[in-house]
Amino acid sequence: MNLPRNAASLTPTEALTTRSLRLVGRSIDAWGARGLREFPWRATRDPWAILVAEVLLQQTQAPRIAERYEDLLRDLKTPAATLALGKGGVLLRWSGLGYNSRAVRLFNTATIIVERFGGEVPTSREDLLSLPGIGPYTAAAIEVFAFERDRAVYDTNVARVIARAVLGAPTTAVKGWEIAERMVPPGHGWSYNQSVLDLGATICTSRRPLCEQCPLATRCRWRQAGYRDPDPARRTAGTSRPQGAFKGSARQARGNVVEALRGGDLSMEDLIATVDPSNESRVRQAIEGLVVDGIVVVTSEGVTLA
Ligand code: SF4
Repeated sequence: MNLPRNAASLTPTEALTTRSLRLVGRSIDAWGARGLREFPWRATRDPWAILVAEVLLQQTQAPRIAERYEDLLRDLKTPAATLALGKGGVLLRWSGLGYNSRAVRLFNTATIIVERFGGEVPTSREDLLSLPGIGPYTAAAIEVFAFERDRAVYDTNVARVIARAVLGAPTTAVKGWEIAERMVPPGHGWSYNQSVLDLGATICTSRRPLCEQCPLATRCRWRQAGYRDPDPARRTAGTSRPQGAFKGSARQARGNVVEALRGGDLSMEDLIATVDPSNESRVRQAIEGLVVDGIVVVTSEGVTLA
């Protein structure tokens, strides 16, 4: 027989009531109402514009994306316009944004949206998840930020806030997301999610949280525990791990190859000479990887953007 357990024996997750989580969500939403960061993708509900923003934001800081977003969207205005540019055209316009495989995935996504969904971004989570490069976070972000549904987005910033303030303990992605869903104040899905993303990015930061300015300061479990070491965010799934050094990395070599080809097609020898003649094997490896990812093509004439 399962005996009922008293409150003291409940795990932190089990002890949380929906009411207490909603209160946390409301505090975050009220904090955000005093002023969110201004980004161009926050001024639109166009699902394609939101999708493009979310793909860009997957691996790049928001302020950097903000500088390029409107220009890029002028050319990639709709899925049909993106498809008409061709993969090479999208790659050309991706210059300076890094992680070129995202440009290819965006082009593939535009293709499927035009061919299978009549040129309109699908509205169901299932259909969104069927698109290339659209994982659970991006699908949720489109539902929340374009269709204003009361769902939760769960990324590294949200995971950090939940681990520290709500649980005072590390958590898994499944549990963290389940808690995030219960924090959304009904009718405030859009504003709450933008607020919690800003809170994690600007106040509850990874290295130096600004607790005196935090709307959760009086209820934060990690703070109440005297910032017990280790930081619960550090062992929480969904929070970011430090990236390896960029200089000398395979990622840098791939980026340099694509950058060189943006100026026009090159023979293999010229491409190696342009990118890094001192490390031919690294350049060749980068090219091979880019071929596998469908970003460049090698022909008898030389190397070209796909
Ligand atoms: S009080 Fe500090 S640690 Fe707790 S959620 Fe706020 S910023 Fe993060």
